[in-house]
Amino acid sequence: MSLIRILADRVANQIAAGEVIERPAAIVKELLENSLDAGASRIEVEFHHGGKSYLRVEDDGTGMTPDDALMALERHATSKLRDIDDLQRIRSFGFRGEALPSIASVTRFTLQTRARGAVGGTEILVNGGIPAHQRDHGMPEGTRIVAEHLFNSVPARRKFLRTDDTEAAHIVQCVRLYATANPAVAFTLIKDARVIFRSPKNVSLIERVAAIWGEQFKAELFELPPTRRDDLGLSGLLAKPGASRSTRAETIIFVNGRPVDCRALTYALLEGYRTQLPKGKYPPAFLFFEVDPSRIDVNVHPAKREIRLKDEYRIRNFFTETIATALGQPAAPDLSAALKMPDALRASLASYGTGSKFPMHLPYKDSVPLKHAHAQSAHIPAPAPAEPALNTGWRLIGRWRHPYWLFETPGGLVLFHVRAAHRRIWYERLLEAEGETTAVQPMLMPITLEFDPVTCAALAQAGDLFKRQGFSLEPFGGNTYRLTAIPAWLDPQQAEDFVRESAALVREQGPSAGVRAKEEAFALLAAARAVRRDDAPSETDVAALAKRLLRCQTPLTCPEGKPTYVEFP
Ligand code: ADP
Ligand code: MG
Repeated sequence: MSLIRILADRVANQIAAGEVIERPAAIVKELLENSLDAGASRIEVEFHHGGKSYLRVEDDGTGMTPDDALMALERHATSKLRDIDDLQRIRSFGFRGEALPSIASVTRFTLQTRARGAVGGTEILVNGGIPAHQRDHGMPEGTRIVAEHLFNSVPARRKFLRTDDTEAAHIVQCVRLYATANPAVAFTLIKDARVIFRSPKNVSLIERVAAIWGEQFKAELFELPPTRRDDLGLSGLLAKPGASRSTRAETIIFVNGRPVDCRALTYALLEGYRTQLPKGKYPPAFLFFEVDPSRIDVNVHPAKREIRLKDEYRIRNFFTETIATALGQPAAPDLSAALKMPDALRASLASYGTGSKFPMHLPYKDSVPLKHAHAQSAHIPAPAPAEPALNTGWRLIGRWRHPYWLFETPGGLVLFHVRAAHRRIWYERLLEAEGETTAVQPMLMPITLEFDPVTCAALAQAGDLFKRQGFSLEPFGGNTYRLTAIPAWLDPQQAEDFVRESAALVREQGPSAGVRAKEEAFALLAAARAVRRDDAPSETDVAALAKRLLRCQTPLTCPEGKPTYVEFP
């Protein structure tokens, strides 16, 4: 082999390394995928200094013969892809044959491997892309790869590395992802001589997630009933309402067993939560999505785990509906999630602010003071059939600091947010009023409203949305409408504003939004509106409010997804 060729290869590998190896975690990813492709049942990862000085990945997979081991370090050497047609149906992780030579070109690289059934093993040392030696090496079957002194051979790239802590965090996240995705493999992760986790193999998903990510997930997650539709399948663990995070780091979606980053799917997941999640928050989740591999593009970038969906609309729909259904079957709201993170929830509660106006109005009172004969129909939703245990034994202690009240419960102390609770009750009540006669009040002075043509079209298209909620809003020639009656719960003084706001909302949603989406948006707006009246609640009011809240379908959060109460053990 001439000197020129070796140099060209080395440089080519270093250039490829620039693409594949952004950071130490990318090396870990490549090595893990190789170990998994090699059928390992046990994988151990160890690193020091964020992986910059030392990185080891060891497996009990098929191993390689001495010849294969040498081959594996050649560029484009792969045992996984023979011709271009294979690309379509590829299920293994690697297939480019680029990872090992790239890694070896930018580290001090030791490969020790012993093929299954072989008498002995072999060791190859490559330093910054320059082969140093190959020799016999006694070892158990499997493969051990050590990559040291990352980017020593390419100092220019070293300065792009972040602090040890940051790089370590990326490695830990990476190993956690693969460990979660591969239940038949036992993983061990060691950081700076300390064991971060050991995941046992072949235990239930929740046990595994608890071992890998932390015990708190046991309380925060519930099992999504496995769902199939055509070629799509979804299963895994999902956050109970009330459990949320401010980053996506624990909102994890595996596509065909591969951890991926796919915004479309994350949004579909968030959509499934609807009002049960605060804006800007993410639900912890470990979801396994199965799809015909030809319906996705996995090869967007070699180092990233981004995928693209080919029929995004159908897939998103399936995702959102499955999640919404799972959340709708009232998995008995479990407060233990809230208990585990009172700080986060408290912060979230505090974000309501503590304005001095006390917004209590109608619905928590047992006799709803409606002027109209239909008053009976303006009832609060009947109790849900299976009432969770937390429904009983709340005793009001008193007002704490506006707008919080305190309850003593069998489990401890509850900090209760009246305004949030109020909104939740109203929201569900307005949605359930559907199909019933809502109590209405005639306007003493009918209001004429003029809208722009787009809004008029949207209103026409929205059908009887307003009517069902107790509004008489009739076309009055041109682009004007006449408002002659409003629901009893609405302050006549606010009627015009409310109709304008909700008309704008209907317009904003556009013609593609379904009836249900319109109703939900409408109810959301109304629920916020319905609490504007200033009124100091009595203790009886608050106690009744709490009772009603607990009968709601989704008592843990207000319709904007913020907590209605927190329980401290
Ligand atoms: P790719 O994974 O894309 O094929 P790599 O450079 O990552 O390319 O690996 C090259 C080849 O080396 C693989 O195709 C495989 O045959 C072999 N190999 C790599 N790592 C292992 C391992 N841990 N156990 C067994 N064989 C391995
Ligand atoms: Mg590979």
